[in-house]
Amino acid sequence: MKMKSLQELESRPGELKVARIRIGSLPDSTEIDIPVLVGEGKEPGPTLLLTALIHGIEIGGYDVINRLMNEELDFTRMKGKVIAVPVVNPFALGVANRFTPQDSADLNRVFPGNAKGTLSQRIANLVAEWLVTEADYVIDYHSCNPPSCVFTIIDEDGTEEVRAKSLGMAEAFGAITVAPSGKLPGTFSGYLSSIGKPVITPELVFSRRFDPQSSDAGVTGTINVMKHLGMLDGNPEPLKETPPFTEPMLYTSVFADTGGFVYLQKKICDSVKEGEVFATVHDSFGQQISEMLAPVEGVVIAFPMAGNQAVTTGDKIAYFASRR
Ligand SMILES: [Zn+2]
Repeated sequence: MKMKSLQELESRPGELKVARIRIGSLPDSTEIDIPVLVGEGKEPGPTLLLTALIHGIEIGGYDVINRLMNEELDFTRMKGKVIAVPVVNPFALGVANRFTPQDSADLNRVFPGNAKGTLSQRIANLVAEWLVTEADYVIDYHSCNPPSCVFTIIDEDGTEEVRAKSLGMAEAFGAITVAPSGKLPGTFSGYLSSIGKPVITPELVFSRRFDPQSSDAGVTGTINVMKHLGMLDGNPEPLKETPPFTEPMLYTSVFADTGGFVYLQKKICDSVKEGEVFATVHDSFGQQISEMLAPVEGVVIAFPMAGNQAVTTGDKIAYFASRR
């Protein structure tokens, strides 16, 4: 079904409906749509928007949405509505790239977009105008390069009220939660927070492949949030194999000072002291040329080297969560 707005979807409480929203066309006139699944409860309640694949390699959120909408959720027993968009950026997915290939843009840096702008700006505008307007709360799934643990990012934008509501969602989700130390312009979560819509960004494990354990955490965490919001009955359940939520922690990224091959001295979820060696970098002859030291006391949540276990100067090498 092609449509111009979500309101055109016939209301069928207790059922799952699917639709496509036209986003544009390729040079050969092939039309490209964004898929939308809408599950409506039989009783009124909040509307939760779930989004995945803003970045074209982060496919874990697709698996979580698929399992939730087609297996886990019983819409006859749910209050409110779930709007799920498993593929926000079909162009980036099509070439298995983080960025939109046509304009080389990071879709998560152009919100709220522009209806008359570049392709990425138009996707952002469509999400903002058609989907966000319908939603009370948002979960935007991303994935981190492995090895990593499932963690949740919360935003520092917006009013105290919206930040408190986002924090409540993160606590209910149940994974270790971090707030970035710096502000990135144009993120989806930053836009949502700025217009008063509570949002969390779970970072699932493993770009490019489904990771069953991470999907389990994503499904359980989302159901936990829905219980917290009164959409489902019951109490949140702890996530398996995931460092739990304790308090909002600070997110610190470390970049490599020198290129080379990386030997890890710590495992994911390990605690580290400030100044402790977490990795060593070795040159092509096998000689150790640098020690990487933890900048904070905290927990290692990811070693997000993008490809090989090797780095060029300036590559991301580790993420830490630390107490503020
Ligand atoms: Zn991402």
